[in-house]
Amino acid sequence: MPVPGALLFLDLDNFKNINDTQGHVIGDQLLVEVAHRLQGCVREGDSVARLGGDEFVVVLEELSSLATEAAGQAELIAEKIRIELSYPFVLGDFECKSTSSIGISLFRGHLENLKELLMHADVAMYQAKSAGRNSVRFFDPTMQMALEARAVMETDLHHALKEQQFQLHYQIQVDSLRRPQGAEALLRWKHPQRGMVSPGEFIPLAEETGLIVQIGLWVLRAACAQLKVWQQNAHTRELRLAVNVSAKQFRQPDFVDQVQAVLQESGAMPSHLKLELTESTVLEDVQDTIAKMRALKLLGISFSMDDFGTGYSSLQYLKQLPLDQIKIDQSFVRDIVSDPNDAAIVQAIIAMTEALALNVIAEGVETAAQYQFLDEHGCHNFQGYLFSKPLPVEQFESLLG
Ligand code: C2E
Ligand code: MG
Ligand code: MG
Repeated sequence: MPVPGALLFLDLDNFKNINDTQGHVIGDQLLVEVAHRLQGCVREGDSVARLGGDEFVVVLEELSSLATEAAGQAELIAEKIRIELSYPFVLGDFECKSTSSIGISLFRGHLENLKELLMHADVAMYQAKSAGRNSVRFFDPTMQMALEARAVMETDLHHALKEQQFQLHYQIQVDSLRRPQGAEALLRWKHPQRGMVSPGEFIPLAEETGLIVQIGLWVLRAACAQLKVWQQNAHTRELRLAVNVSAKQFRQPDFVDQVQAVLQESGAMPSHLKLELTESTVLEDVQDTIAKMRALKLLGISFSMDDFGTGYSSLQYLKQLPLDQIKIDQSFVRDIVSDPNDAAIVQAIIAMTEALALNVIAEGVETAAQYQFLDEHGCHNFQGYLFSKPLPVEQFESLLG
């Protein structure tokens, strides 16, 4: 794994002045002395170089793999350098003071983008100068932090699959009598340093980088393997399993073939597999969506529309899509008892599902009052913390009683 480092761009604040007034011999001595002091501030593996004139570059390597910690370490060393260089220099019988301005740019791994790094550090150095000199600045620290964090996560995400850091948790879905009907499979990433990373954090990145295609396939395989296990036990045979499918994954030209292959390999019953799509996924290309949904339905798979009501819920496309279920988004469920608007929206969604002969389920059900309201108004399938949080499979199974 690439180890983070930092590039420090350093410029003496009044070298030109000293050089011009005291002559080049003194100027050269000053540079030599600065180089000595710099070397005294860094560790063995770090490098110090003079770029030219009174500009120096220091490369710090093997900082902490946590971006915030790495930034802290780089800042500490930069401060040490700044203070060290602010002490008077005795050059022969001449004594002078020369402070420094330091810009820092963080990097990961090898110095492949050296030019860009230097540019960033240079920009930061100028910010240090304009902040009054004798100071240290990061290249746009928040932005750089965000960039770094993303880059780190991306590298880690690449390893997550082969390092087997993913697991599925299962959240129970129940009927009006709280009888288990099935579960939704929810992806968990057990990061070696950061612990559990929530899908809200890494799914968007996985989407952007295209990694979601491989990850989604892993999810499908893991879910179908679990279904197969459940199907071999009388106690769990009837459970249906819902799997989230993201847009990029669904848009793969061979998505239907992939699903079919996974079903065949696993031996899971397609009738117990439910795919959750979102409105935005579906709307990207309605014709393609319909074609794929039809093909998959021929295999026996069913479909649920996730987060319903948060996107463009056009009745026109709803009518066309071969859906089985609508999942009322948790944002409407949350205030269903206290906010008349949310109550009205949920009632309208339920009425619509009745008219279209679709099944309806509510997600994010946390209180008995929400559960009761939904049940009284015609929604008889539920998922939410009231029944259980998403759990590892053993714990999920022990819920079944
Ligand atoms: P989602 O599919 O809408 O899943 C429901 C989310 O609500 C889950 O968050 C679940 O833990 C959470 N939740 C369940 N019950 C309650 C409740 O009573 N109250 C509240 N406040 N929240 C509840 P989670 O597991 O963090 O997943 C977030 C999203 O990440 C999912 O939203 C889904 O869009 C995505 N995701 C999760 N697993 C996968 C996956 O395997 N593939 C893809 N493409 N996306 C996934
Ligand atoms: Mg879902
Ligand atoms: Mg949802």
